[in-house]
Amino acid sequence: MIREFKYFAPRTLNDALKLLDKYQDDYKIVCGGQSILIMMRQGLVRPETVIGIKGITELSYIKGDARKGMKVGALTTHRTIEKSKVVQNSFGILAEMENRLASIQTRNWGTIGGNISHADPAGDPAPVLIALNASLTLARAGGERTMPVEDFFLDYFETALEVGEMLTEIQIPPAAPNTGTAYTKVNVIESDMATVGVAVSITLTSKAGTCKNARIVLGAAAPTPMRAKKAEKILIGKKITDSLLKEAGEIASTEAEPISDIHASAEYRRELVKVLVKRVGKEALARAKA
Ligand SMILES: Cc1cc2nc3c(=O)[nH]c(=O)nc-3n(C[C@H](O)[C@H](O)[C@H](O)COP(=O)(O)OP(=O)(O)OC[C@H]3O[C@@H](n4cnc5c(N)ncnc54)[C@H](O)[C@@H]3O)c2cc1C
Repeated sequence: MIREFKYFAPRTLNDALKLLDKYQDDYKIVCGGQSILIMMRQGLVRPETVIGIKGITELSYIKGDARKGMKVGALTTHRTIEKSKVVQNSFGILAEMENRLASIQTRNWGTIGGNISHADPAGDPAPVLIALNASLTLARAGGERTMPVEDFFLDYFETALEVGEMLTEIQIPPAAPNTGTAYTKVNVIESDMATVGVAVSITLTSKAGTCKNARIVLGAAAPTPMRAKKAEKILIGKKITDSLLKEAGEIASTEAEPISDIHASAEYRRELVKVLVKRVGKEALARAKA
């Protein structure tokens, strides 16, 4: 049963931040409600005050392009990102990822900011954003701070968001030349959360060159989305081959810290990491060469 609560629906960021500041003791932000309402119905979260931010239209936007980098407002829905021509042309991997996230109904109402703030380790956006070296902005009454997406996740469903803070924007920097990024997930039911998801970004010194930089990011393989840094290291400075990617997958699977649950055993998840790092790595490499 959902407990009775006070409800506010601010229409501006300024008003929302004032409310967060005033109701510090026991509030919960609700945006699209696709994740939080399930937790409220289950009684896992029982706030005294609910601050509904969905009506803050100033935080729904996509600005920039591949050359300048992109800024995405936290309240932008998954569907808007998926369907955006500028996203498809500039950071196509984001649109591809969104296309596989949940159902169209959930994508129509759920937001990228809500997804990241929810911090489900199986969420799709975080591995891709970390592979793209994205940052995010957290605002509070009287100030804001920016941090890499990579540093935002602290534990299962726990983030660096402090009381009084709200996620307002995600920034994606322009990609270096000869960079390719790819993502896939294995899920039991189509349109559902990842059993394991892997994003890989590879930058080459030239189209036929060696690996200058690599990011390998695992989802649903640890309490938070995580970079497999040892695996990344063995790619850098070398000509990437199938056998090198296979080795990277094997190393990444030892770095992962998966759990066993109703969807999969920890062993199976490690195996998926092995296979997916190689598969997604090959795709990222092909894109870096294209
Ligand atoms: C059937 C179903 C299938 C799904 N499948 C997938 C899937 O395949 N992949 C995937 O990644 N996700 C999936 N999800 C999860 C869902 O799509 C996302 O978590 C959703 O995008 C959350 O956005 P929201 O706006 O609805 O957030 P809400 O549910 O409103 O909020 C989620 C959390 O974030 C906080 N919050 C929201 N916005 C902000 C903000 N701007 N600043 C600070 N805190 C904020 C809330 O307080 C809450 O704790 C699925 C959900 C459903 C119901």
